[in-house]
Amino acid sequence: MISPEKKVEYRIIVIDDNPAIHEDFRKILTPSSESDAALEDMESLLFGEESRKDTENRFELVSAYQGQEGLEKVVRAQEEGRPFSLAFVDGRMPPGWDGVETINRLWQECPELQVVLCTAYADYSWQEIQEALGKNDSLLILKKPFDNVEVLQLAQALTRKWELNREIQGRLNKLAFYDHLTGLPNRVLFLDRLESALSLSQRHQHAGALLFIDLDDFKRINDTLGHTVGDEVLKVMAERIAESLRITDTVSRAPVDETAARLGGDEFTIILPEISHHDQAAMIARRIGEHLAEPITIGGQRLLITASIGISIFPDDGVDVETLLKNADLAMYCSKNTDQGDFKYYQDSMNAAALRRLTIENQLRRAVSFGELQLHYQPQVELSSGNAVGLEALLRWESSELGNVPPCNFIPIAEESGLIVALGEWVLRTACGQVQKWRESGLHIERVAVNVSVKQFMHPDFVGMVERILQETGLPPHCLEIEITETLLARDTSNISELLEQLRALSISIAVDDFGTGYSSFSRLKEIPIDCLKIDRLFVNGIEEGANNQAIICAIMAMAEGMGLRVIAEGVEKQQQIDFLSDKHCQEAQGYFFRPPLPAADIEQFLRRNNTQ
Ligand code: C2E
Ligand code: MG
Ligand code: MG
Repeated sequence: MISPEKKVEYRIIVIDDNPAIHEDFRKILTPSSESDAALEDMESLLFGEESRKDTENRFELVSAYQGQEGLEKVVRAQEEGRPFSLAFVDGRMPPGWDGVETINRLWQECPELQVVLCTAYADYSWQEIQEALGKNDSLLILKKPFDNVEVLQLAQALTRKWELNREIQGRLNKLAFYDHLTGLPNRVLFLDRLESALSLSQRHQHAGALLFIDLDDFKRINDTLGHTVGDEVLKVMAERIAESLRITDTVSRAPVDETAARLGGDEFTIILPEISHHDQAAMIARRIGEHLAEPITIGGQRLLITASIGISIFPDDGVDVETLLKNADLAMYCSKNTDQGDFKYYQDSMNAAALRRLTIENQLRRAVSFGELQLHYQPQVELSSGNAVGLEALLRWESSELGNVPPCNFIPIAEESGLIVALGEWVLRTACGQVQKWRESGLHIERVAVNVSVKQFMHPDFVGMVERILQETGLPPHCLEIEITETLLARDTSNISELLEQLRALSISIAVDDFGTGYSSFSRLKEIPIDCLKIDRLFVNGIEEGANNQAIICAIMAMAEGMGLRVIAEGVEKQQQIDFLSDKHCQEAQGYFFRPPLPAADIEQFLRRNNTQ
């Protein structure tokens, strides 16, 4: 609501061909001389003493003597951001447009303008006016000769109505076009602005840029620290984006709230409507990236969050909103995959990469039924005896279209697309079935380790599926080890501990794969029911390189011993590494030094030679 103390100057335009009428309006609505004091008295009599102060100088009056002139003034005022709230329009203004035509045109340009049609005699009936202008509650009729009080009343009431309408409209706009969390424009407004920026750039033949910003690992923050912290992070990031733009205002030209937007989730965009060369976009992207990467402290927690940014240039990278957005998104995606926390310009080759990804996904869908998948097995060797005590099952895909695709190229895609659930089930069934067959044929195999990805583990039927497969294949549960990733542990869900407990209750053991590269804290590890840590090959590889890696391995060994966990060193390739690991009482190792992952037939030969009972 408008507060009564607020002193606003409403702008009123009088459109009338008779100069004397303008003089009358001026006397009534802008009483300044002593001779007008009587009118002021009249006003305070009418609206109370308070209104005198309130309405003092409240109206700024502008005159136009023809409809056309009035229209020009209304349009100009609107463009200058000083719109009229009310127009008094004469019914007849020869030789130009009459009142109805003038009003019609005024509303085409300025639909929220309140209008009083002043008629000397019955030029039109109310019905005729309604027919000509449509039903509209922004129009009132004033019969000439008019009563001064009536004019004042109309001016008071209609300007307030205009103000209220604007306030309501403003609030509705805020709801419909702005993101409630960050206050930035939302997707709808962003798309509209991008459309305008594109057509302006086409008309004036200049270039512009679209920046697509996505926070790195934001999901992890939500998962581990909760949505309240996640929301705070988004607010801080939105503010930082705005700050970075304010600094570079001279380049981005348009005001911040017209250039930045939040598309949803952790995705933000920036439109640079006009750039003189491409480097300007990079300059802004770099500045934003640096500002976003500064540490944030929320609820006593110090967080380091980076963002990946993709840039598409218009018109070079697209002349329509959809293409530009898709290409900026693709550039962001590539940046995230290669240089997290950095920015990338869109390139045509990125489409090729996206296409390849899509091809992999499509081919992978049929891989199981086309028999293109295979499991290889890598021995896990007990260091004290030199015996292979376990096998890790590793997935291989020989695609008829794409050839041999390494797991690091297809597992993440399978994970993102959800295909991993079906693939993982196939892996588990095949590995358990194969090992049980070997066991039944007299080979001694203590256990088989199967990798399980996060999405697969979180599938509601995961434990049920494992149980069914063990029953189907006959493999004793204690012969199965499930390898989970460290990132799974970083999730803040008691649910995970519960699921792990259920698996252990079945006598299945749990190993944490690639240990040391994820985010799990030692204290978190204590709360989680596991049996084995697999030291990532990164540290094993670096044993000869220096004290640092050695110290990490020693720390992991000490912690594992304290917690009663078995340790397997991954990626062992050299005798020196074995010596160091044995010295530190690491129980088991796997790596090329012993055997690379091998097809079932080859590993069977190896086991028969080395490990028959
Ligand atoms: P991982 O579970 O850590 O598997 C060990 C990886 O290290 C394997 O790569 C293996 O071939 C490789 N490796 C073993 N010894 C050595 C060595 O001495 N030196 C070097 N440089 N590398 C060695 P691979 O088979 O390419 O698998 C890569 C990753 O793909 C696996 O890492 C695992 O995370 C994932 N993966 C493989 N199979 C599956 C599966 O069935 N399900 C899921 N969810 N992930 C799988
Ligand atoms: Mg593994
Ligand atoms: Mg590993």
